[in-house]
Parts: sequence; C-alpha cells; structure tokens
Amino acid sequence: MSEGKIMKKIIIGNWKMNPRTLKEAEKLFSAVAKSISALKKTEVVICPPTLYIEKLNKISKKIMLGAQDAFYGDVGAFTGEVSGEMLYNVGARYVILGHSERRELGENNNDINKKIKASLAAGLRPILCVGESVRDPDHGYFNFVKTQLEECLAGVNQKLFSKIIIAYEPVWAISSTPNRKDATPADSEEMVIFIRKILSLKFGKEAATVKIIYGGSVNEKDAKDFLQNGGVDGLLAGRASLDAKKFMEIIKICEALNK
Ligand code: PEP
Repeated sequence: MSEGKIMKKIIIGNWKMNPRTLKEAEKLFSAVAKSISALKKTEVVICPPTLYIEKLNKISKKIMLGAQDAFYGDVGAFTGEVSGEMLYNVGARYVILGHSERRELGENNNDINKKIKASLAAGLRPILCVGESVRDPDHGYFNFVKTQLEECLAGVNQKLFSKIIIAYEPVWAISSTPNRKDATPADSEEMVIFIRKILSLKFGKEAATVKIIYGGSVNEKDAKDFLQNGGVDGLLAGRASLDAKKFMEIIKICEALNK
C-alpha cells in the first residue's frame, strides 16, 4: 500500500446539493483551506455541487476538488449531462460515482461502470461508492457488495485501476437514510477485508494499493475509531463536511494518527 514514501490517508467531503449559494460555498471552503496549511500525511478532497468547482479551485490549491457525478459520453447530444473532461478542465481531479442517492434515482452498476471508464480516461480519480441497504441475517449483503464491485469495475484497465478509491458506505448508516443506524468500526473492518479480497481476485497485486475508505455519518467524535479500527485508508463525510469546524477536526484527527 505504498504511495511514494508516505501512504497518505484521504478525507473526502461530499457536500451533496449544499450550500444554497456560491457565497456560502466560498466561505465554507475558505474556512477549511485556511486551517490546513501544515498537512503532510492527509489528502483533503471536497466534492461540492459541480457549478461551484471552478470558483472554489481559485481559492486554494491545498484542497483537491471532486465532482459528485460525471457522464460517460465525452461530448454531444446528452442534455443536462457533464463530462469528465469538462470537470477536469474546471479543476476537478476526483469524482464520486455510484453514490446511493444517485442509485436511488435509477443509476445502475452498468451506468456506473461506463462512468468509471470515462472518468479515468478524462484523468479523474473515481471514488466508487458501494454498500448494502440492509444487513440481512444470512449475510447476503456481502454478495450484494461483491456484485456491485464486479459489475462496476468490469473491464476497467488494469493499469488505471489503482487510481480508483472504493468508498464503503452502508446505506443504512448514511445520515439521510430514515431510521438510520450507526455502523461500527468492526462493521467497516470486516467489509474492507472482504472488498480487498474481491479486488485482489480481480486485479491481483494492484488491489493492495487501492484506497478503501468508510462513509456513513462519520463525525468528529467517531472518526478516530473508524480510522484506527475500521481498516480504512480514509473517510468520506457528508453532513459533517458542511461544518468547517467538524470537518477540520476530522482532518486533524487523521493527520495526527497517520504517522
Ligand atoms: C454520504 O452520503 O456520502 C455521506 C458520507 O453522508 P453522511 O456522512 O451525511 O452520512
């Protein structure tokens, strides 16, 4: 799991469709950027709504920017869509793909597979979200995640594979899920081990270099536990990333642990 000399951990903020205005977005982004000057072992990525990316990219280069989706066509008659190349050109370097909130709107593993390939070709690093909606007593959720991985990663170029980040996000733990439950670091750890096994069967040694992160209501109180005991290379925060202080706290915890 090497990345140069230091295996950096990664903290990603998914702003979803927030905040309401560019002004608020600039304020939030600047507040985070101001306090992260000394980071050496943690990479920070913020995924704001697409139309804020270009502006935010001008505020600070200390935070990498990501989109929350990218279409698989590169140019042409695709009303309403935005390509990976367009996102790259305005400053995005990452893209969340297959988020459960998009799957809920009808996106399937085949769509996500095409988006991963197109995003990689455009130079973006895909953050592929996988995760079950329920944990059934028969442990069928392992097979569910396996199918997501296999279908979303089918035919992905072996050489580009290590650019992909896998975000394990159990849907039942995400803050927007009604009657959500807390996942534990142990829940994360066992799934991370499973995911790495599936990846190594498919991609061999390269699987060891892929970052696997956890997301699902992570906050400044449980981030340390997930980073220490969840088997992960980083965290994906939704709600907590909309609060500069909380998000900064998570970043600082990560930096302090990652020695
Ligand atoms: C997400 O939906 O990607 C996420 C991590 O959200 P939250 O932290 O709000 O559960």
